[in-house]
Amino acid sequence: MQLPDMHSAEAIPDAARAEIDRLLTSGDLFRYNAPQNAPVALLEAEFAEVMGSKYALAVSSCSAALFLSLKALGLPRDARVLIPGFTFAAVPSAVIHADCLPVLCEVGENYRIDINDLIAKLPDADAVIISHMRGHTSDMDAIMAVCTAAGVPVIEDAAHSLGTVWNGQKIGTLGAIGCFSFQSYKMINAGEGGILITDDADLVAQAIIMSGAYEHNWKKHPVLQDAFARHQNRLPLYNLRMSNLSAAVIRPQLPHLGTRVEDGRRNHDHVASLLAQSPHIHVPEPLPGEVRAPDSIQFNLVDLSDDEVETFVKAAETRGVKVQVFGTSADNARAFWNWQFVPDLPELPKTRAMLMRACDVRLPVHLPVETLGAVSDVLLDAIEAAKRPHAA
Ligand SMILES: *Cc1c(COP(=O)(O)O)cnc(C)c1O
Repeated sequence: MQLPDMHSAEAIPDAARAEIDRLLTSGDLFRYNAPQNAPVALLEAEFAEVMGSKYALAVSSCSAALFLSLKALGLPRDARVLIPGFTFAAVPSAVIHADCLPVLCEVGENYRIDINDLIAKLPDADAVIISHMRGHTSDMDAIMAVCTAAGVPVIEDAAHSLGTVWNGQKIGTLGAIGCFSFQSYKMINAGEGGILITDDADLVAQAIIMSGAYEHNWKKHPVLQDAFARHQNRLPLYNLRMSNLSAAVIRPQLPHLGTRVEDGRRNHDHVASLLAQSPHIHVPEPLPGEVRAPDSIQFNLVDLSDDEVETFVKAAETRGVKVQVFGTSADNARAFWNWQFVPDLPELPKTRAMLMRACDVRLPVHLPVETLGAVSDVLLDAIEAAKRPHAA
């Protein structure tokens, strides 16, 4: 069977075209030009409604959303922000951008933050960012319980987990602020873009001003106006706004979110069940209470030497499926030892061991079901090849 293109992003629904045409004709691309109902403002209202949160602020990227969240929390210079040792380099980068210090926590074989290491480091922490990697979530009940008890605010980095549900609650609505990405390889594709959600009027008012609602542009946001008055002229304007064009690309995708999440989960679970045939592949189970929203699959290679891991990756690639082992692919942005811009970068033995065997394979949600067997066969064949090197 011909393997599908596993790298293509989601196509933009035709419904976007008329609105983009209208924007091109009028030139009305700046979110604060129209007195009301600018596409960015409509996106914020619709996204907040989908998530069941009070406020949303659309910005230029999820990194910008994380940065503004840290700034809105009013963290002083050198505040300590706990982050998982397994996340995208954008996360420690946002912390550094906000003049704070990233403090890395160990991550287990199931790709979730090690709750004991989090608890051990919490007494010295000023904030916590939890990254929900690739449609998974950590145990948010345990995390919120210990962080709330310690009085430490939690920011959820749900960049790549839009649609994931934890015990009936939407991921991104559990912490003080939730941040999402619309970069091309996430569940909703605008090339670039991000959004933050919160129920806290004062936090969102500060984030709105700092995102670039200069002068009285904040009046176009449906937030209690006295929350803004307090901060007028007292906050820097970082100008991280979203353009109307991006909002026009995103809005018609929102109604497709439910289907995309279901298709992605179906693809993931089907491939996981086929891979379970091999004693050398382990796909971690969802946590009890977790309903995932994956557009990729992660699994750990079991009982493979370093050489066998390399043979496996090459054999899969030759057969048409690109596998990234987070820890062995050159300069991988999710391997913490490549974050050399972090001061006093620690060693995390547990996380390192996981990254050296954890594989990542993209499974776009639009992949036809018929092709999933072929993808799994390639991975299983590649395992065979790795275990019998002369057959590679
Ligand atoms: C993609 C991603 C980001 C960054 O999102 P941008 O919109 O590209 O800034 C942050 N964290 C995680 C876990 C991601 O997957």
